[in-house]
Amino acid sequence: MLISTDQILRSVSRFATHGPSAPRHPDVHMVDTSAGPHAFIVNGSQIYGLAAEAAETLRQALVADDREAVDRLLIQFGITLSPLIDDRPIVSPPLRSLSLAIAQKCNLGCTYCYAQQGEFGGGAKAMSAEMALRAVDLLLRDAEAGTRVNLAFLGGEPLANRTGLRAATEYATQLATAAGVDVRFSITTNGTLLTPEDGDFFERHGFAVTISLDGIGDAHDRQRPFKNGAPSFGKIIARVEPLLAQQRRMQVSARVTVTPSNLDLVGTLEGLITLGFHSVGFSPMLSSPTKSGEMDEASLEVMLARMIDCGKRFEARLIAGVRYPFLNMVTALRELHAGTHRPYPCGAGAGYLGVSADGDLYACHRFVDDSRASMGSVAGAIDSERRNAWLAQRHVHRQEPCRQCWARYLCGGGCHHEVIHRGRPACGYIRGWLHYCMQAYVHLRASVPSYFAVEQA
Ligand code: SF4
Ligand code: SF4
Repeated sequence: MLISTDQILRSVSRFATHGPSAPRHPDVHMVDTSAGPHAFIVNGSQIYGLAAEAAETLRQALVADDREAVDRLLIQFGITLSPLIDDRPIVSPPLRSLSLAIAQKCNLGCTYCYAQQGEFGGGAKAMSAEMALRAVDLLLRDAEAGTRVNLAFLGGEPLANRTGLRAATEYATQLATAAGVDVRFSITTNGTLLTPEDGDFFERHGFAVTISLDGIGDAHDRQRPFKNGAPSFGKIIARVEPLLAQQRRMQVSARVTVTPSNLDLVGTLEGLITLGFHSVGFSPMLSSPTKSGEMDEASLEVMLARMIDCGKRFEARLIAGVRYPFLNMVTALRELHAGTHRPYPCGAGAGYLGVSADGDLYACHRFVDDSRASMGSVAGAIDSERRNAWLAQRHVHRQEPCRQCWARYLCGGGCHHEVIHRGRPACGYIRGWLHYCMQAYVHLRASVPSYFAVEQA
């Protein structure tokens, strides 16, 4: 029997904003699972099974918002730790990752593009090979032997400046080899300019290649046409297929930007996995310069329901011993298993910086040419004062309402770019997704323990 969107909306609305995933206490969150009630302890992101009676007592204290009783019960259950994250921000962390806006221009006319068709609101530009090499110098200058660094190519469309991309890659390989540093490469591309020679090059250098695809056929073409409005999906797939067949060191993944117009996530996931992508991930469109395609509350509720549908398929396949590379799920399970806890959503402005075509440094690739997040230049130096001020201001303990949210050390307070431009419209979605992933984690830990042994190794 088909479930209507209305039914999904009703059930998920309760789930995401008022139901079991809603925020009640900043330090503990209850999760009912197939293996009974569990408590998620925010400090250290640990999940503990509770006896039914203990769970009920804790639940009542949470519903009554009796924080003293909650603290007392956690001590009684022996599941407290001294705080692992305090209010101190990171200060001048080592640089581990740099993304180059190697081409601030693009041949597609995506409806929602944060980079405004690649030009970030300015004119079309390409990074000179000279500037790209200086950026590589910056990345590797203080990298110690045995460490790992990442060089990412973004745009615009990075393959619009193949010369700069290849020069920077070869140079980084040469410097890293001499210094005993492990350098990894990644590229996010629209796929329209890929050639077999690019495939050989990416394979040789072990690139993580991410292709931006927003669905199968029309669903993609509605959002990501060429600038003249012509469809792009068929042309992209024709160029990507040889790379999919070639993957050895190279991994070719798909990234789907979800808007209210392409919510068939299960169909998209199945279609892209069948095509042979190494993994497939979804991100909601939360902030667009044109406002086009931004997700509203109702769309996020539908998205959550569809993400859970994808997650259920992942669970079933994993139990059946079949690889099912749904990236959001793989990442969430890995983080829950590792007890990931962090005071920031990502490395932006910390170990990671973005470089504009002109060689200016920004908190990340999405902030290119945005003076609010500028952090020096390749030709000059990293502006430590601005960077440290950013890190102090962006710490999750400085964010509202994040300080009181049980999801804060997994979420980190949300993408800085989206929060600064739009606020936090997706908290119900984020908490609903994490709540479901905790249920799935407990279920899969019991059903397929070997998966986590391999993931940990
Ligand atoms: S942004 Fe993340 S941490 Fe902040 S309130 Fe929303 S879900 Fe919680
Ligand atoms: S600020 Fe947002 S776009 Fe930039 S690296 Fe962080 S999560 Fe990604």
